[in-house]
Amino acid sequence: MKILVVNCGSSSLKYQLIDMSNENSLAQGLVERIGIEGSKLTQKVNGEKYIIEQPMASHQDAIKLVLEALVDETHGVIKSMDEISAVGHRVVHGGENYAESVLIDDEVMKALEECVKLAPLHNPPNITGINACKALMPNTPMVAVFDTAFHQTMPDKAFMYALPYELYEKHGIRRYGMHGTSHRYVSQRVAEVVGKPMEELKIITCHLGNGASCAAINKGKSVDTSMGFTPLEGLVMGTRCGDIDPAIVPFIQKAENLTAQEVDTLMNKKSGVFGLSGVSSDFRDIEDAEAKGNDRARLALEVFYYRVKKYIGAYTAAMGGVDVIVFTAGLGENSKECREFVCEGLEYLGVKIDKEKNNFRGEERLITTDDSTVKVYAIPTNEELMIAKDTKVIVDAL
Ligand code: AMP
Repeated sequence: MKILVVNCGSSSLKYQLIDMSNENSLAQGLVERIGIEGSKLTQKVNGEKYIIEQPMASHQDAIKLVLEALVDETHGVIKSMDEISAVGHRVVHGGENYAESVLIDDEVMKALEECVKLAPLHNPPNITGINACKALMPNTPMVAVFDTAFHQTMPDKAFMYALPYELYEKHGIRRYGMHGTSHRYVSQRVAEVVGKPMEELKIITCHLGNGASCAAINKGKSVDTSMGFTPLEGLVMGTRCGDIDPAIVPFIQKAENLTAQEVDTLMNKKSGVFGLSGVSSDFRDIEDAEAKGNDRARLALEVFYYRVKKYIGAYTAAMGGVDVIVFTAGLGENSKECREFVCEGLEYLGVKIDKEKNNFRGEERLITTDDSTVKVYAIPTNEELMIAKDTKVIVDAL
């Protein structure tokens, strides 16, 4: 069975075709600048790039080109579209409706529309992508895999804000969490690597990329996570501020004469390690600047690491202990400095990093000493495979 995994943004689309017989990725691609001048598709097969530059006015145009690229005689990987058994769509927000992935039908589409108010930037392009695929592949089953679903197991004490209760009832204001597919994938994977059933493990997963979040996973269930009503809460990120005193919002509005929307943009796009360092939102640039003595780059990294460390402490308390800590995503997988500095000072919890073992990037490895009672791993995330696996389970049951 071959499954197409689709992740639609407002002007971009990422895709992967996965052969579920061996879970190998046959082709990966990115369509950029949909609806903007300079549209471009880049497909990679066995490391070889195939680039098509042609106008794409809509997501439907983009999906059409993706299908053409996949069946292309020279650069493609399948003979016909019929080889695609199902499509798995990454959907950011499923609200409280979905704690699991689901086969897409009219009712699901309606529920996704209802969730637009919760994710006004992310859900609309996801819906557009689903509609585009449905138009071109009307007989192919489609599955929605939600970023929020994994965290629906959080207890109310973890997901409620101490705001007037009516705001939860009226507007759904509560913590939802994101990156659920990644937290689920790496926690399941690390349980396999450790060789213990999930039910016996307390895991803290740290998804540290441009967007960043931690999750507390007890017996296989997410019991807390650092992102909240939106992805802005929690850790410091590339350009997002993470946790701040909420009273700062009206204060800045007044002091800087900004609209609410402008403050929202400032917190989402101009803050985080970018805002602190003034260098870049890319951690590689900040690490380079720090190495050259840039003090604000040092500060940005320290604030970032310190926040992750605090969440690890908090989640250890929330679960009454921790057995395994996992680092994943761009920074977690690749930056030995990040892993080392976050874990520095956690010896009292039983975390002992082996600096030699930690000296690598982009691999699945244990980075703690043999006598470390808490095991720390770097596990490369694979959200596409998780989406494909969910899709397969649902389609197999049809
Ligand atoms: P992601 O959002 O998961 O794609 O992660 C992107 C972030 O990971 C960017 O800020 C990158 O700078 C960071 N990253 C990727 N490779 C490295 C590396 N070798 N060292 C430090 N940061 C890295």
